[in-house]
Amino acid sequence: MSAQEREMIQVEEAWRRIEAKAVPLPPRQAALLEALGCILAQDIFAAEDVPAVPSSTMDGFAVLAADGSTRRRVVAEQRAGLALGLRLEPETAVRIMTGAPLPEGADAVVPVEEVRGEGDFIVVEGPVRQGQYVRARGSDIAAGQLLLRAGTELGPAELGLLAAVGLTHVPVHPWPRVALITTGDEVVPVECAPAPGQVRNSNAVALQAALLQLGLQPTMLRHVPDDLEQTEEALLAAASVADVILTSGGVSMGERDRVRDALNRLGQVHFSRVAVRPGKPLTFASIGATLVFAVPGNPVSSLVSFELFVRPALRRMAGHRRLFRPQVMARLEHPIRHEPDRTEFQRAIVQKREDGYWARTTGPQSSSRLLSLVGANALLRLPAGVAEFPHGAAVSALLVDQPEVP
Ligand code: AMP
Ligand code: MG
Repeated sequence: MSAQEREMIQVEEAWRRIEAKAVPLPPRQAALLEALGCILAQDIFAAEDVPAVPSSTMDGFAVLAADGSTRRRVVAEQRAGLALGLRLEPETAVRIMTGAPLPEGADAVVPVEEVRGEGDFIVVEGPVRQGQYVRARGSDIAAGQLLLRAGTELGPAELGLLAAVGLTHVPVHPWPRVALITTGDEVVPVECAPAPGQVRNSNAVALQAALLQLGLQPTMLRHVPDDLEQTEEALLAAASVADVILTSGGVSMGERDRVRDALNRLGQVHFSRVAVRPGKPLTFASIGATLVFAVPGNPVSSLVSFELFVRPALRRMAGHRRLFRPQVMARLEHPIRHEPDRTEFQRAIVQKREDGYWARTTGPQSSSRLLSLVGANALLRLPAGVAEFPHGAAVSALLVDQPEVP
């Protein structure tokens, strides 16, 4: 093993090396609904006024406020839809619907609730203010106005706005294409009954679910045994179709852990040990332009590595600027001991109370025990160098979900 491979780096340094490689992908045009959750790559300006013509905000009667009359003859009706090209004369009214274009010559709408009908006439008791219940042309959106800045995340409101000004496609940073490769001689498909010593491929499900939560469907999904040739073959196939390869297992110190060897032969390894628990063997590499995150096989290690390093990297490649989960200081509901040799991320439940955030762990923190992640809404960051955290001690908590309320 080379000196570079023995090197164990800190969490911050690992992220710095990832950040330098995982840069935003070049923009491409996407149809509006494909762009949901994507980051806009260009400023968008309005090409037209909305509304394009003055229109009514109420069901009622379009009138000329300045004619000053209380009694007006109803001469026509304008529904929402195509403008009929009506011209309103003083002392007349046009029956009008919400959203309908105002007739030429009208400058106000009297709501139906405020008029009394007398045959063909309407009587309005109160004063009529010029412009009342009228959406002026361009009052919602003015032509030329900056609507959305580059860097905006596109949600329902943003996509609706783009549709309202007539855009069907927008330039966005695409999400990376991700290939998922699980490894291990002992790992069998989840539908198989494992023989003694075999384990079900739960990581294939858990990591796919983690990708799906980002809106990502893996481009390729493969399982390989602990065999150098087959590992290399799968990595090469993945590198030809994906921006990012995610592998699970095969990066520990065992004879049969071949993923790191394969990566060294095919590309460049940027680091292969991080001073973190769980997830020490996390390996980050490149094969050509494709980035590889090789997470350890233990089910908790693989998901925590994904959460801490892979998820923010994928978000960064997709153009996001907010990469990390919100962080709060939480006080411990019970004392915690930990091995102080590495930074540890313990799975926890954080509760928001009147006097601030409080945290309790999810029980035994073994990296094989997926139950330690079930129901956890936070990862407690326990720094290296401190072994004991007493009841009430304040620790930093990464909120992976909403805090619990008592
Ligand atoms: P490894 O990182 O390959 O040394 O694997 C560490 C532990 O995680 C072993 O106990 C493996 O059996 C288990 N493991 C590896 N891959 C998977 C997987 N895809 N699903 C569930 N458990 C796994
Ligand atoms: Mg293995």
